[in-house]
Amino acid sequence: MTASSWTLDGLGEAFESQVRAHCESGPPSYEVRVHRLDRLGAALSKHADALVRAISADYGNRPLAGALAAEVLLQLEEIRTTKKNLRAWMAPRRPQPRYFRAAGVDAWVEPTPLGVVGVISPWNFPVALAIQPTIAALAAGNRVAIKMSDLTPRTGEALRQAIAEHFDHDELTVVTGGLEIATAFAALPFDHLFFTGSPAVARQVQRAAAEHLTPVTLELGGKNPSVVAPDADVAAAARRVVAARLANSGQLCLSPDHVFVPRAKEREFLAAAESACRHALPTLAENPDYCTIVNDQHYRRITALIEEARAQGAVVREVLPPDEQRPPASSRRIPFTLVTNTKPDMRLMQEEIFGPVLPVLPYDSVDEVIRQVNDQPHPLAAYWFGPDSAEFRRFVARTRSGGVTRNDFALHASVAGLPFGGVGQSGTGYYHGQFGFDTFSHLRSVAVSPEAFSPVSMLSPPFHPRLEKAL
Ligand code: NAD
Repeated sequence: MTASSWTLDGLGEAFESQVRAHCESGPPSYEVRVHRLDRLGAALSKHADALVRAISADYGNRPLAGALAAEVLLQLEEIRTTKKNLRAWMAPRRPQPRYFRAAGVDAWVEPTPLGVVGVISPWNFPVALAIQPTIAALAAGNRVAIKMSDLTPRTGEALRQAIAEHFDHDELTVVTGGLEIATAFAALPFDHLFFTGSPAVARQVQRAAAEHLTPVTLELGGKNPSVVAPDADVAAAARRVVAARLANSGQLCLSPDHVFVPRAKEREFLAAAESACRHALPTLAENPDYCTIVNDQHYRRITALIEEARAQGAVVREVLPPDEQRPPASSRRIPFTLVTNTKPDMRLMQEEIFGPVLPVLPYDSVDEVIRQVNDQPHPLAAYWFGPDSAEFRRFVARTRSGGVTRNDFALHASVAGLPFGGVGQSGTGYYHGQFGFDTFSHLRSVAVSPEAFSPVSMLSPPFHPRLEKAL
């Protein structure tokens, strides 16, 4: 099947074949799961070059080294970690309830595969966000269908080819296509649907899944706040915030969306941020290290957010290298842009920016920051730059976000063993490591009663007179 030939019928048949294969073969053994993970690793390794070049071409220019690290190498590492732990994750888990054990009950939790899992991935990390949940779903013994974003068609096709070379359709398949295929995909009666994307599309996906009571994991985005603490080293904080915002040119769900800076230190922060940006990007026009905006529509969306804010009184500072003009729109290179004097009702301050633009918000007290963070839907990430302090701990205790990193960015999503997921509008459910394995498993309770005595006999008549006396 080629990318252009995915039809609604083809989609339905591919799904049915996975359901049939799952029912016929039963839960796969540890060895089968490891073999699948090995083949997934082989597909990524063998096609790494083609995948990374496809991603870069879909973007216009996405730096190859960064794409290779995030999209391929980190996934190979996740496969290695998963294989190392898989036997332990698959093993029955035995709680230690003293009463039941004393009564002779044997009881355990058996992680069992759910069946057929759908994974819907976004365009910004199209391979990583397709493969990472797939690793967990395959490890948990499921069959998987991946739906790629139509904004990155070359990547979708490259991944489809890589997977088709190493897997039968009924084990793992990659679906490409436009909105009609996407909508039909979300409407399939999967045993679990794993969606990464925007809250707006998540609502439609959740509605479609509700038809079949298909459980969903939603990995969404939001406006991630970052805070330069009152006692922070402002220059060091500015360097880290700018580096974070420049990653993938801000087209990253974990990117700091805006930064709160102590009012008295705003000018110092702006100067340090400009200098950090000039250091990171000595040139913009032809710089191969600078990621372009993925397409014209997103370029126009981001520039419109900036221009609307400017028209409403915001002060906009584009950081351009010396002797360079702003690159033409056709290049889709937006200079790193600092925006001050913003107001909460500006669209720039309401919508996820997803670009290399950083609103800088002066504050007088940490309580004011906490209030402003809580006025927005819960974000995926919150950042604090500065030493450990009572204020940092109050910020963590009084706000909600998917995760928190202090003095860096995205670290809470990178450390093995931590769950990754949003809260409220930034998502529902978790994955990474064992949290992913459990997401794609049914944790099935099994209990065995002793022959001589039923420990739950007190629930049925005749009731023992001693029970009434206990009232
Ligand atoms: P999107 O919601 O527009 O699209 C996500 C996927 O859904 C794509 O594959 C798209 O083709 C598909 N889709 C679109 N309409 C659909 C429909 N009606 N039914 C079923 N599927 C449909 O998101 P995007 O623009 O690709 O990605 C950017 C968003 O994703 C941002 O909000 C970002 O914060 C978020 N994101 C979150 C994470 C995370 O891990 N939490 C990671 C990356 C991106």
